[in-house]
Amino acid sequence: MKKKSKNNTYRSLRGMPDILPQEAGAFYMVEKSARKVFRMFGFTEIRTPILEETVLFTRSIGEDTDIVEKEMYSLKDRSEKEISLRPEGTASVIRAFIERGLDKENNISKLFYIGPMFRSERPQKGRLRQFHQIGAEMIGVPKGSICYDVELITNAMSVIDSAGIEKAELNINSLGCSDDREKYKKMLKEALLKKKDELCENCQRRTSSNVLRVLDCKNKECKHIIAAAPKVSDSLCEECSSNYCGVKDNLKKLGVKFKENHNLVRGLDYYTGMVFEINHPSLGAQDAIAAGGRYDDLAGEMGGPDVGAIGYALGIERALLAVSDEKKPVIVKGVLVIVLGEENLTEALRTVQKFREHDISCEIEVTTSSLKSIMKRANKEKREKVIIIGDQEVNKGVVLFKDMETGDQEELTIGECVEKIKSQRVRESG
Ligand SMILES: [Zn+2]
Ligand SMILES: [Zn+2]
Repeated sequence: MKKKSKNNTYRSLRGMPDILPQEAGAFYMVEKSARKVFRMFGFTEIRTPILEETVLFTRSIGEDTDIVEKEMYSLKDRSEKEISLRPEGTASVIRAFIERGLDKENNISKLFYIGPMFRSERPQKGRLRQFHQIGAEMIGVPKGSICYDVELITNAMSVIDSAGIEKAELNINSLGCSDDREKYKKMLKEALLKKKDELCENCQRRTSSNVLRVLDCKNKECKHIIAAAPKVSDSLCEECSSNYCGVKDNLKKLGVKFKENHNLVRGLDYYTGMVFEINHPSLGAQDAIAAGGRYDDLAGEMGGPDVGAIGYALGIERALLAVSDEKKPVIVKGVLVIVLGEENLTEALRTVQKFREHDISCEIEVTTSSLKSIMKRANKEKREKVIIIGDQEVNKGVVLFKDMETGDQEELTIGECVEKIKSQRVRESG
């Protein structure tokens, strides 16, 4: 292999950054608290493959959506099959639900997933090409029952709350059943065609290809026209309207604050009924932390049982932008065991082995030079305890135990060190 020259070094792909230890710790914290919430709600985990047949996504997400039109990472495998990196999680979960016959195992399949998704978008704050989602799906829920709509929203709010995110705002809307939506699309199209020349180029195209997407446009002129256009909530049939009222009523009674957003339609085709988005005011243009809704027709359309479903996904990177700094985890370094001279290494290795048997996190470092610079670094790393092992200590059968906070140091046996560290830990956590 040819060596790369210095000014031609390897770089990660644009929009696909490394997650370094500090940030990985924050990811872990969000994932851990989410898992706890899911357990409280009776969800269990599913892990689906990152690569799927392209057709799974084009059919479920919709041909006219931004994702399918221009954001998927698609390629041909060696047998010329079109495959894609998953741009979202729902399609795969539904595919697994149908393929594995999960409806026969559970009355309602409550599944959550955590993992990377891929979309070839222009990277910006809160928008990456490889990003991570925590998602939840309830499949097999009765189509008319509002219980699960409310349960799913409270689940999403709890996940966000447990991650240490304050001031998240819940926005909801209802798209109605497919009849309602067809009726609404027609009304909206008629209204927009009258103003066609005033719409931006994108919206002019979307008016005929996927009219609901016009509602997402950020263009000022378009926004004006949209504000005066018919609202989806005005096209709901009696049943959808009463369901939507029921959801809102229960949220109010539970003390869950929300705003109704008539322009909230979501970028995927499969939604029916209630949709929601959870936003954060600190995030600017890409302010949705989580989003989801009902998709009662998808399982049936994908060749599975005709059952209702509802789900959402939360973007971990975006959620982390909204976590206040004081809630972010700090990396705590363990006990540093410094060995003075290779000849004392065995004694030091024995010490760390003993510590680890007692669940004490520790690292070992051998030095032949001055202690001063190591101690300075240990201080900077906020190590609480440092152990020094040199000729003198080995001869006496002890180690030098240094408490970095108080500056105290004393000679202790390894057993005494373990007792001391453990007793302090009990006091701290008690
Ligand atoms: Zn309806
Ligand atoms: Zn527009």
